Amino acid sequence: MELGYRRVNLVWFKRDLRCVDHEPLARASAGPVLPLYVIEPEYWLLADTSERQYRFLLDSLRDLAEQLARRGQPLWVCVGDAVSVIQDLVERFDVDAVFSHEETGNGWTFARDRRVGAMLRGRAVAWHQYRQHGIVRGLGQRVNWASQWEALMAAAQWPVADLRGPGAGLFQLPDDLPMSERTPCRVQRGGSAAGTRALDSFLAERGRDYTRAMSSPLSAGRACSRLSPHLALGTLSLRATVTRLRSTDADDASWARSYRSLDKRLHWHCHFMQKLESEPRMEFEPIHRGFIDLKTEPADPVTLQRWIDGETGWPFVDACMRSLAATGWMNFRMRAMIVAINAYHLWQPWQGAAQRLAQRFVDYEPGIHYSQIQMQSGTTGINVNRMYNPIKQSRDQDPDGDFIRRWVPELAGYNSSWIHEPWKAPANLQRAGGARIGEHYPEPIADPVQSARVARDKMRDYIRTHDLDAEARRVLAAHGSRMKQPRPRSSPRTSTAAQNALDFGD
Ligand SMILES: Cc1cc2nc3c(=O)[nH]c(=O)nc-3n(C[C@H](O)[C@H](O)[C@H](O)COP(=O)(O)OP(=O)(O)OC[C@H]3O[C@@H](n4cnc5c(N)ncnc54)[C@H](O)[C@@H]3O)c2cc1C
Repeated sequence: MELGYRRVNLVWFKRDLRCVDHEPLARASAGPVLPLYVIEPEYWLLADTSERQYRFLLDSLRDLAEQLARRGQPLWVCVGDAVSVIQDLVERFDVDAVFSHEETGNGWTFARDRRVGAMLRGRAVAWHQYRQHGIVRGLGQRVNWASQWEALMAAAQWPVADLRGPGAGLFQLPDDLPMSERTPCRVQRGGSAAGTRALDSFLAERGRDYTRAMSSPLSAGRACSRLSPHLALGTLSLRATVTRLRSTDADDASWARSYRSLDKRLHWHCHFMQKLESEPRMEFEPIHRGFIDLKTEPADPVTLQRWIDGETGWPFVDACMRSLAATGWMNFRMRAMIVAINAYHLWQPWQGAAQRLAQRFVDYEPGIHYSQIQMQSGTTGINVNRMYNPIKQSRDQDPDGDFIRRWVPELAGYNSSWIHEPWKAPANLQRAGGARIGEHYPEPIADPVQSARVARDKMRDYIRTHDLDAEARRVLAAHGSRMKQPRPRSSPRTSTAAQNALDFGD
């Protein structure tokens, strides 16, 4: 190993796998730099991580290694516990300081950062952590948060410097590791180059009908930006993305609408992540403490399995779940629907479902994920509770049943009159359709209308018999958006004293 420099600044890459607009790298490059990524086997055994996320990571690390090599330094990739790996490097080199972005991760990464911090303090090595995205560490209330976000997005990007440093190091990139979840999947390509291509094609071609096409799973895969895994692993800088978007001229009103809509969503990205940053316990329990006793029974494993496997007997829900299993991605509306179905129609706790779903998302971003899960499960106390009728969604978003036929081939022989509720088809039509319900395709897990009514009653009773207002005010002050949002029109509401239709997500 060539040790050109013994004194180095160690840049620890985490969920920020790029060189562009990278404050820790830019600052550290005032001196010799050792760029490091640690593959942590224990992380990949967690109940919310999966092989598909790891595949995206591998692409992104290869791409980052090329970016760094072009700037004069190789990326070091080490496998092991982050504390041991960094400690080992601190002992082998004269590390001036460690530079990284702040990470808003899950409870495991939060605890790991504490261990790394303690180890570095014990060795008197400084650890400089910088803001990534628009998230503010140690934020009290949300006042001025939106203007801070705007200021950060408007600030100059960090320049990309040429790097000097110790040169060749370790590049351990295991193609495989023991994983907690391995459902095969066509994974979206990782790395900054692929992220830039996704942004380019959205801004120039794919995005024209964004606002109209984003709700149906038939059109959303192409019409949405598909930036989510790139923002989750930081292969794109959020600020660079916002800057690029805002400097692109809209050719007509349709493009202008698309660009405005994407801009708003890039703001939501941080708005939701801020919630987990400010209150990490929300990964495990309701953000509104008054809802901790809403569901005291553990999840029913059979129901959970039917839900995640797409075997509920509700064709559109099953098509969404099977499509997610195969592609690693789902549009916003369908994510909201499947979570609401777990929480209301199936009356299951959200925690286990949240982990199983996280594993299916290539773009798993804990801050967005847990905030959205709670919002769609009715445990924030400050949002309108939305119960999606799976049959209405099916008829609205897939009227001809094409999406269902694609992902639930058992029902390929059903026409659009019966495909949304095949169990209602007479026996001779079921025979003609080639799938008898209960034999070739499951009976519906519940009556969709009746189960929604029961859930609505349970929610109403719970809210009536619990004192929820003071905690709702606390949640609103700490996490509520200060932007006025229109009340959603089409979704049923559960009226609650604790609810303020202030938040968004649709
Ligand atoms: C239950 C549930 C769980 C979710 N879990 C995740 C997750 O783990 N990771 C994730 O990135 N997104 C998550 N989302 C938000 C949203 O569904 C995805 O960001 C979006 O579908 C990703 O596709 P896209 O990049 O093409 O999105 P676009 O619609 O093109 O949006 C562009 C970007 O804006 C941000 N964004 C869009 N919608 C939202 C939203 N409602 N809230 C916060 N940010 C948003 C994302 O960063 C997204 O990449 C979740 C939504 C729900 C309802």
